[in-house]
Amino acid sequence: MIKRLSWNTNIDIKKEKEEKEEKEGIILFIRVPKGTQDILPGDISKWYYVEDVIKEILNKYGYIEIRTPFFEYTDLFVRSIGESTDIVTKEMFTFPDRKGRSLTLRPEGTAPVVRAYLENSMNRISKVIKLFYLGPMFRCEKPQSGRFRQFNQFGIEIIGTQAPAADAEVILTALDVYKKLGLKNLEILINSVGCKRCRADYIQKLKKYLENKKDFLCSECKERYTKNPLRVLDCKKDDCKEIIEEAPVIIDNLCQECESHFTEVKSYLNDQKIIFYEDPRLVRGLDYYTKTAFEIVSGKLGAQNSIAGGGRYDDLVEELGGSPTPAVGFAAGMERMIIALDQQKVALPPKKGLDIFVAKVSEKNQDRAFRLLQQIRNANLSADMDYSGGSLKSQMRIANKIKARYTVIVGEEEISKNMVILRNMHTKEQKEVKIDSLIKYCQGDGSTDNLKEAV
Ligand SMILES: [Zn+2]
Ligand SMILES: [Zn+2]
Repeated sequence: MIKRLSWNTNIDIKKEKEEKEEKEGIILFIRVPKGTQDILPGDISKWYYVEDVIKEILNKYGYIEIRTPFFEYTDLFVRSIGESTDIVTKEMFTFPDRKGRSLTLRPEGTAPVVRAYLENSMNRISKVIKLFYLGPMFRCEKPQSGRFRQFNQFGIEIIGTQAPAADAEVILTALDVYKKLGLKNLEILINSVGCKRCRADYIQKLKKYLENKKDFLCSECKERYTKNPLRVLDCKKDDCKEIIEEAPVIIDNLCQECESHFTEVKSYLNDQKIIFYEDPRLVRGLDYYTKTAFEIVSGKLGAQNSIAGGGRYDDLVEELGGSPTPAVGFAAGMERMIIALDQQKVALPPKKGLDIFVAKVSEKNQDRAFRLLQQIRNANLSADMDYSGGSLKSQMRIANKIKARYTVIVGEEEISKNMVILRNMHTKEQKEVKIDSLIKYCQGDGSTDNLKEAV
């Protein structure tokens, strides 16, 4: 007997193929591009679960979905994310179109949403707009656990308000999604990165601090020092980290307005009994953030433990050509959510099996069986049959494997009497039923409850 493989046990076969290639010294099979992955049918229920929870919670909070293209003109990201950020300098997939215009696969969702907001004059629909997005993003990073070159993110944006309550809501929304998913051990890190005004003063202080240490910075940071000293704070290299450790922090240099905004955001969170930690080194790797910046980290994901991040971006709409419009939002990687679900062994809702499997005694009954299959589907029950031409026994095996609740067996003798055999796969009881009454039993509320009576 051929052993049927499930979707997730094909690793051995993959290895076998690789060994064969190595032995023969040739590439026989084309693989997925580096840093990408197939989401196989065996894992899809996790993705449905995560997507359903996200949509449910975001609907509850009043966000409406927006879908922007997977690629945009490169300029959009250079202008919004910032020329000297890691994303723009080394991580974007950029290519010319046939007329030589530079396009980039979206590395993040906020800039495209703001572009669409402006292009469609959404400010005329309502002063404050609440949007969410969900889908693939692309960054040419070194692949590592939980980090892919094509990865999925969902995010929300509240555009058109300065209210500290909106900052708090964004954080609460993210937490609500994780809570509903069943994830635990989450921590919230929060900071304020100031506004245009107080940041200018802070950058002067930072430059002054770095001035006599710049020889010890890495080559990239030496360049950042002149171009955009704030980005030195993102550097992950040990030498730079040591220097950053002692650097002045922006939180000590906030203007009055930023200070009181931050205090209010925190008081909303306290009011909701949310535990958070202030992290004065949290700056996020994008230029457009102002005031509130936050990250949600999962204690169990190792070094790459940030599972969501966001903040306020009060100048972005204006920088992309709109009138001054404050905004706040966050984005979260969905692959990391799925890894965390696995690690924390969160039980997913049980899969709904097939309602009815249609089996036939011989191939001669195929046309009659097929007609019946469509009749059952038209009555809003899920139904399927096997097209491999296997024996009745092998068809019953398939019915068991896909967890069909009932099997209808179409046989020579019964069909001549306009009847079929209906079998309850759970109780193993079966009896002959008239096709007409079977269809009648199937019609109704789309549940298989009526069929209990039939058997
Ligand atoms: Zn300020
Ligand atoms: Zn550095």
